[in-house]
Amino acid sequence: MSLKEYQNRRNFSRSPEPPAREQYSTEGNIYSIQEHHASRLHWDLRLEKDGVLLSWALPKEPPREPGIRRLAVRTEDHPLDYAFFEGEIPAGGYGAGTVRVWDRGHYYQLESKPGTEIIFRIEGEKLSGIYCLIKMKKDEKNWLFFKKSTSV
Ligand code: MN
Repeated sequence: MSLKEYQNRRNFSRSPEPPAREQYSTEGNIYSIQEHHASRLHWDLRLEKDGVLLSWALPKEPPREPGIRRLAVRTEDHPLDYAFFEGEIPAGGYGAGTVRVWDRGHYYQLESKPGTEIIFRIEGEKLSGIYCLIKMKKDEKNWLFFKKSTSV
């Protein structure tokens, strides 16, 4: 993906959201989750990868403990500047509503099958530990997000 879809969905003369541009952080592994009070409250998971933020929308609060599986709907890549964006997306615009940072930190990829599975360690303020994102079969956008049990 690229930032084209991000760009096309938004009117930047009306929205305070950051413009589309690819860039890299110094560390290259920023992690964040935003609480987004849109028409339906959801949480947006962001993982920095190759100059953009891979993004998933979680309809329910992100799991802090193992044993809770959450749907994570893949959404368009976002620019790195979006990771810690907070603000009000005006009524009538795409994703209208309040965006607040819910968690922030870094992630460390442990295993990856590109496009289908990512296993990574999160070091955030609310979430920490080993997490998995697994794409559901036969579905382009639906993934599962859960914390791995640390017991072997
Ligand atoms: Mn959102």
